[in-house]
Amino acid sequence: MKPLSIALVVLSGILIAASLAIPFPLAVIPSVAGLGILVFFIFKTGKSLQMKSAELAVKTSGFGALVESLNDGVVIYGSDFTVLAMNAAVEKMFSMKRSDWVGKKVEPKTSLPEGQKLFIQILFPSLAPSATQISEGDAWPKVVEITTENPPKKFMTSLARVLGEGDVGEYFIKIIKDKTEEKEMQESKSEFVDIAAHQLRTPLTSLSWSLESIVKESSGVSESISKTAEEALRVSNRALKIVNDLLEVSKIGGGGESYSMERTALAPFVRQIVGAADSFAKERGISLFFQPIPPEWEGVEAMMDVERLGAALGNLIDNAIKYNTKNGEVSVSFEVFPEKNSAKITVKDTGIGVPEKEVPKIFEKFSRASNASVIDTTGSGLGLYIVRNIVERHGGRVGFESKEGRGSSFWLSIPLAGAAPETV
Ligand code: ADP
Repeated sequence: MKPLSIALVVLSGILIAASLAIPFPLAVIPSVAGLGILVFFIFKTGKSLQMKSAELAVKTSGFGALVESLNDGVVIYGSDFTVLAMNAAVEKMFSMKRSDWVGKKVEPKTSLPEGQKLFIQILFPSLAPSATQISEGDAWPKVVEITTENPPKKFMTSLARVLGEGDVGEYFIKIIKDKTEEKEMQESKSEFVDIAAHQLRTPLTSLSWSLESIVKESSGVSESISKTAEEALRVSNRALKIVNDLLEVSKIGGGGESYSMERTALAPFVRQIVGAADSFAKERGISLFFQPIPPEWEGVEAMMDVERLGAALGNLIDNAIKYNTKNGEVSVSFEVFPEKNSAKITVKDTGIGVPEKEVPKIFEKFSRASNASVIDTTGSGLGLYIVRNIVERHGGRVGFESKEGRGSSFWLSIPLAGAAPETV
């Protein structure tokens, strides 16, 4: 073996070792690079990529031993889906023997025993009940999340394409990570949150009721008692809102929430939600108004779960009031785009805005911008995540533009009644 080849193999070994310490799917990039170098070495030493040599290389070289010991599955196959090599993790993951597969062409068949069926779904993700491409467009490596039903499992796969030399065509290296345990852990965590939130909701609701009656009765008794009671009521209501948000989030995670959709005229709906936020705006000294609309938009309808979409729009308006500046403004506008079969509701404020670098994360769970806590320390960062989920369940989209210190425009769009959902 030439010194360069040895250096390459050692380097690829180091890359693989390093890959074990960094998170997937990033980890697969050095792994794939390492495997690519290994196969490059096989070509350079004059051996064509026959399945025997690839399998031998994977089995016998020091690098091969590393691949063999990986917990992630590694499969190498040709462009005609002939399996060239696989490591022990693949055998374990799919309860199969490599001798039954190496050298054989894999067909996209579905009538197979359980483990083999899973393996086929990994090689041909279109056969899996759910396959979501994580990597962008045609970029390599292709990272895909695959969920299977029977048995219920979740995998993350990364596919690299290696171009051979001379008469050796291209071949593929697929790295498979079993994420089922992670998924199960997430599910049990969300079940725990769900139970805890349910348990908290009842006592918190009665606490809020009791505090409300104390607030009513304490007026005229003593200013300090009535102030303390008001503060306690505010905190209790806030806690109740967080508990309700957590329940909504855990429903989103489980995908089990049922929506009751009804045909609703949009303009009166928006007007009513704006009206409901009026007292909050007054309390904060913010002018809130609904932009006038042309009469022909008054009767435009959409299919919606009125309570949920109302909560979503209400959240955008509450945020615009909450994250505003002294004597600020919030204007709500409603537009209809018949050519797109959709309507758009925009909530524009003159508030603190969102710092540019934090814009991409703002719709994520528990995400709060760094300037938010100066204004409001009690936020949970769940509101916008829930808003996005509710709007997307209606076939719509959400978005926003913002300038730090100047203000924001948050919007949601929704298909008109009878229209097909928008493509996101
Ligand atoms: P919360 O308000 O409870 O923190 P949200 O999910 O509703 O949670 O909002 C997430 C974050 O987005 C807020 O903490 C804030 O940083 C930012 N944000 C939302 N709306 C606005 C707005 N109108 N102006 C400025 N920042 C906003």
